Amino acid sequence: MDIILVVNAGSSSLKFEVFTIEGGLSRLMKGQMEGIGTAPHLRVKGADGAVLADETHDPAAVPDLPAAMNHVGAWLREQHPGTLAGVGHRVVHGGPDYERPVLLDETVLADLERYVPLAPLHQPNNLAPIRAIRQFRADVPQVACFDTSFHHGHSAVADHYAIPEHFFAEGVRRYGFHGLSYEYVAGRLPELAPDVAGGRVIVAHLGSGASLCALSAGRSIESTLGFTALDGLPMGTRCGQIDPGVILYLLDQKGMTVHEVQDLIYKESGLKGLSGISNDVRVLLESAEPAAGFALDHFVYRIGLNAGMLAASLGGLDAFVFTAGIGENSPDMRARIAARLEWLGAKLDPDSNARGDLVISTPDSRLRLLVVPTDEELMIARHTLSLIRA
Ligand code: AMP
Repeated sequence: MDIILVVNAGSSSLKFEVFTIEGGLSRLMKGQMEGIGTAPHLRVKGADGAVLADETHDPAAVPDLPAAMNHVGAWLREQHPGTLAGVGHRVVHGGPDYERPVLLDETVLADLERYVPLAPLHQPNNLAPIRAIRQFRADVPQVACFDTSFHHGHSAVADHYAIPEHFFAEGVRRYGFHGLSYEYVAGRLPELAPDVAGGRVIVAHLGSGASLCALSAGRSIESTLGFTALDGLPMGTRCGQIDPGVILYLLDQKGMTVHEVQDLIYKESGLKGLSGISNDVRVLLESAEPAAGFALDHFVYRIGLNAGMLAASLGGLDAFVFTAGIGENSPDMRARIAARLEWLGAKLDPDSNARGDLVISTPDSRLRLLVVPTDEELMIARHTLSLIRA
């Protein structure tokens, strides 16, 4: 049985999913190697939830991402002797040039390495498993799928910062991220909500990373994320939009180093920084601490503000779609956010919201409220299949 492997590599974990190709793409298993270099742990579950692997490993045997990739590859070959038809990778940055997924070769890899300065925390991790596979399985086609591509059609007006023009040419521009998630949701809308799919829609990807995307007739025209995945909404640990003067103040007046500021705004801010308790919305919802409630109030407030901004980019709004961990699973957060959208015509139906139905607005709501689970890995598998068959 031919399979496609989907890889999503982070700083200390390597997530993967396996899809069979025969009879259409279907998920066989999902797994991850966590604690790379410290306490490696491989967990894999089948599509039915059955545990296929739950193994701890010696940190010396899995010191880095290439080693983790090789380990996962060896495990897969043992478990699944079928043919590996292709590997699809989530790559955060496609830079100014890559407007769609691409088959990887040395030239493309060299380009993607040039984008490391644009996403220094993520891009090197995304590229490491590609190199590892090329070393041992050069025969297997690999595909890079970018978080930026779906936003490629934004107007120049939307994508510029008001700084001297030459910076734009050098790549300092608003890219937008979470594109694979938005592409998947946009692809589902014609089937799930045909009467609004051609209209003005905001999709809210609310997970540990969070952003909003404005869709006009299914195409992204605006995003709350910009040059990096720091902009827009506050997130689990990232600050979201912040006056650049704050960064100058931290560097200049507080004497913080660039690395300290980077750590602060990527890892210690957002819900975690504001609450001082957790980056996890579930924990904050259960906490009786005022700071937990305050962090959630701020999060919801900023989503409302940013929704107004994106509604302005669309010239009005027909539907608002919730997706990702918080958007798909928390009726409480959806209700709070929907209350902020009442001025745009939103009327929440509490029963459908509690059930997590596809449509959670009342029949007479001027703004349609929807819940559409995202599937970035399936999106990557689809792109990979279409490119290796092309
Ligand atoms: P994601 O990045 O899409 O996997 O989303 C992860 C985040 O979703 C977690 O950090 C949680 O804050 C949030 N989450 C998952 N399930 C729930 C839930 N039932 N209620 C509230 N938040 C949730």
